Amino acid sequence: MRYAVFSDVHSNLEAFEAVLDAAKTSRVDSYLFIGDIVGYGADPSPCIALLRSLACPVVAGNHDWASVEKTPTEYFNEAAAEAVLWTRERLSEFERAYLCGQGLVHETPHFCLVHGTLDHPEEFDYMTDGGRAARTFYLLRQQICFVGHSHMPGVFVDDGEKVTYHGTEKIAIEAGRRYIINDGSVGQPRDGDPRASFCIYDTEASSVEFRRVPYDIASAQKKIRQAGLPGILADRLFLGR
Ligand code: ZN
Repeated sequence: MRYAVFSDVHSNLEAFEAVLDAAKTSRVDSYLFIGDIVGYGADPSPCIALLRSLACPVVAGNHDWASVEKTPTEYFNEAAAEAVLWTRERLSEFERAYLCGQGLVHETPHFCLVHGTLDHPEEFDYMTDGGRAARTFYLLRQQICFVGHSHMPGVFVDDGEKVTYHGTEKIAIEAGRRYIINDGSVGQPRDGDPRASFCIYDTEASSVEFRRVPYDIASAQKKIRQAGLPGILADRLFLGR
């Protein structure tokens, strides 16, 4: 089975479509979504419709829940909070119910999905250091935990003695080791590379590969500006920050 693992689309339809095209070209069988389909960008409804059409496992991100008032926006920065309010006004009843219905953790025998961390997933902490990773490894019952949220692709590896951090080179999933894998962000990368990020998890080859995909950034920016959303949300797409 080859999965395209992706998250943090953030209402960026141009980036989302580019990633799905790349996934199809890479002969992906199925998809895993790790939260934040909405927020920041100008196309919440088309992105929700496209996600639903994939009929894949989904977990909620903080922007998804904030858009349906399931989590507060007091910890959001000003532009993010403004985008949440903008999104909230544009969701249909059906879309609201869809976002409300998404849980925080999805488990299978081999992997689990969570937007932030396994300890207190409702607090949406960032998986940014070895301490946070260690707490999630402690709770992890599978070999792999896929996460999003920080928009920084990379991998934590637990070899049974210590936790180490690795960049975005292709990784082999080896027996006796466990992995926390961050797929980066489709719609608002923050690692300095503006291309959309996702990864391909191949269960037969036991590997995870990171991918970057160029997309029409100018078109996504134009929609953000025309929608009256904060200009910074358009500007940062070109910077990948
Ligand atoms: Zn996000």
